[in-house]
Amino acid sequence: MHRRDFLLGFSALTAGAAVLRPARALAAPRPVIEQGFRLVIDPGHGGENGGCRAHRGGVHEKQLTLMLAQSLAGRVVDLMPHAEVLLTREADETLHLTQRVGFANEVEADLFLSLHCNASRNGDQTGFETFLLDVKASSHDAALTAQRENDEGFGRPRDAGGDEVAVMLRELGMTNDRKHAAHYAAAIQREQARRFPNRVDRGVRLANFDVLMGARMPAVLHEVGFLDHEDESKLLLDEGGRGQIVEAIAQATLSYFNEVVRRG
Ligand SMILES: [Zn+2]
Repeated sequence: MHRRDFLLGFSALTAGAAVLRPARALAAPRPVIEQGFRLVIDPGHGGENGGCRAHRGGVHEKQLTLMLAQSLAGRVVDLMPHAEVLLTREADETLHLTQRVGFANEVEADLFLSLHCNASRNGDQTGFETFLLDVKASSHDAALTAQRENDEGFGRPRDAGGDEVAVMLRELGMTNDRKHAAHYAAAIQREQARRFPNRVDRGVRLANFDVLMGARMPAVLHEVGFLDHEDESKLLLDEGGRGQIVEAIAQATLSYFNEVVRRG
């Protein structure tokens, strides 16, 4: 039985079992078995697709997203030993956007996080932001970011047309996943703002990201900072700076688990 089926079955059972004694009356003195939780982290870009570039030097977004994803995976498992964390890529591989979310669907992830670094037209923007999928972007900037991240040349089939709209509408109908994604996105922003009070909190935004489309679980895309900005690229290229960013996302993941998954 898949874990998800088990969980659904379990909550349906407990919901209807009002006459059962409280759980603590049944608890034996043995370790609590924590509820399973599977997180898929998607290091943005990779292989032929480098993403944006650092303000100075040859570092590409794809290298940073992989480093961030790997240390985040380790930190999440430290904090939540019951969690299973999988990466869409573990090396410098070219992955189509549809393969990323396809992988998360295949492994029946409970949560999907795509990690990216931002860039702006004049290299003068700063801050961190988290996106949810929506048909309409919440602002012109959000639309531009989505356009840049979507523009991998092989993101979606050229003749998608009507099917694509159908997929989007179906996704938008999944209100529980969207609500949960919004909760996770807010937690990430809150934890980043706590660690970086002097950086710009660009908030939770809506945009039409191909990489989130078709996800059958709560899915968000986090832009950790602007790699093309002088100060922010220094932060992102610094191991200590990345460590703080990772800690923020890991803590956000833990609160998501406690506030959303555990409470059902
Ligand atoms: Zn990106």
